[in-house]
Amino acid sequence: MLQPGIIPDKEPLIRVGIILPEDRYTSVSIVIPQSPAYQIDYSGRSIALKAGTELYFKYSRDHIQFSLDDKTYSAPNTISIFPIRDGKEIAPGRGLLVKNVISGRDFHWKKYINAVYSGALIIGSYEDRLIMINELPIEQYLMCVATSEMGAACPEALIEAQTITARSWMLANVEQKHVHLGMDVCNDDCCQRYQGTTFLTPQSIKGALNTYGQVLLYENTICDARYSKSCGGVMEAFENIWSGPALPYLQIKADAADEPPEWQKPLSDETNFAAWVNSKPHTFCSPHIIPENELKKYLGSVDEDGHYFRWEERITQSELISSLKQFRGIDVASVQNITILERGGSGRAKKAAIDCMDSNGINFRHLLDDEYVIRRALHKKFLYSSAFTVTKAEDDSFVLTGAGWGHGAGLCQIGALGMSLKSYTSEEIVLHYYPGSTLKRIY
Ligand SMILES: [Zn+2]
Ligand SMILES: [Zn+2]
Repeated sequence: MLQPGIIPDKEPLIRVGIILPEDRYTSVSIVIPQSPAYQIDYSGRSIALKAGTELYFKYSRDHIQFSLDDKTYSAPNTISIFPIRDGKEIAPGRGLLVKNVISGRDFHWKKYINAVYSGALIIGSYEDRLIMINELPIEQYLMCVATSEMGAACPEALIEAQTITARSWMLANVEQKHVHLGMDVCNDDCCQRYQGTTFLTPQSIKGALNTYGQVLLYENTICDARYSKSCGGVMEAFENIWSGPALPYLQIKADAADEPPEWQKPLSDETNFAAWVNSKPHTFCSPHIIPENELKKYLGSVDEDGHYFRWEERITQSELISSLKQFRGIDVASVQNITILERGGSGRAKKAAIDCMDSNGINFRHLLDDEYVIRRALHKKFLYSSAFTVTKAEDDSFVLTGAGWGHGAGLCQIGALGMSLKSYTSEEIVLHYYPGSTLKRIY
């Protein structure tokens, strides 16, 4: 596993969680491909596997069972399947096929896909649930991550910039959300979306090879290179989104070559922010460079007719009441007001208050105290961003007028696309989004 704070001098293997305990699996099917040749290791023994074999693993009472050639095997701990000759070859659709893997865990777009993974698969258990890990060289992982984030028409500089960013974030290894499960990251948006070689493209392979081993450094530490879909025109500072000390390379900065005149500072001021969110400044992520209905060509993970730079959401009383119950566990009869109490430098709300009335007619105030909680609590599909103003309509619904998609710190994917279409290089792009950092090959 990756060690935080250590800069590797050769390409490391990483462990990606494919099935987590919260998925509540007790079984999984894996199909062995025609090539390369694989073997299975369990309880200190090994068996060579025939091409085309489908293995069914089942967890029951502290053991994992699988059947092969009409015999049933059982192991008390982990089982691994890996290529016999440890090749570094990677190609679209090459590797072990796993049936019914969850994509979009915890989100409204959750679905099950059959996914293919290069490297090894390790099957184990955690608190009476089956878990599965994919262990593979980090560069192969990065090729697959870039594919999940990008559409086919992506300029090379964007894929390279995204790959450098993902590599830095991965190797900085600060978040460690799944370390107790023996996983460096999970396979979903909670960490970075990863679907193995299933949708791998030649462009993303090239993007990783062109930037092999390159990371962003700040004072001899690998940058914790956070990124999001659209900053909305101004990048947010680390400390306004997450707890912990400020990071000098994640700061409040215009996503443009020059500061747009519409940016009246600071955006933490309500009047300045209201003017900003109702303006259409020329920034790298604005529709002036790339119309939003054309984004789909470049970024795989966007809606055909989505609006991200500036957006509006109308939330009815009943929608809000059900979101507050589902995501905050509070019973509310009506909501009188949503008030933003504090904003960061891109206008993203850090604290908000919901003034409610319960079924006994008693008024109370419910506090939302970070960006993620605000986005989660106010909208069943997770609000695009917390940079919004609120107006109450005549029918008592709330109209949210907002900017950007995601937390807004670090690389803005739509802005990076705009820069690449304006012929900036991948190095110029990453140094724009992580000011003060340097780009260096470490292995
Ligand atoms: Zn995760
Ligand atoms: Zn931006």
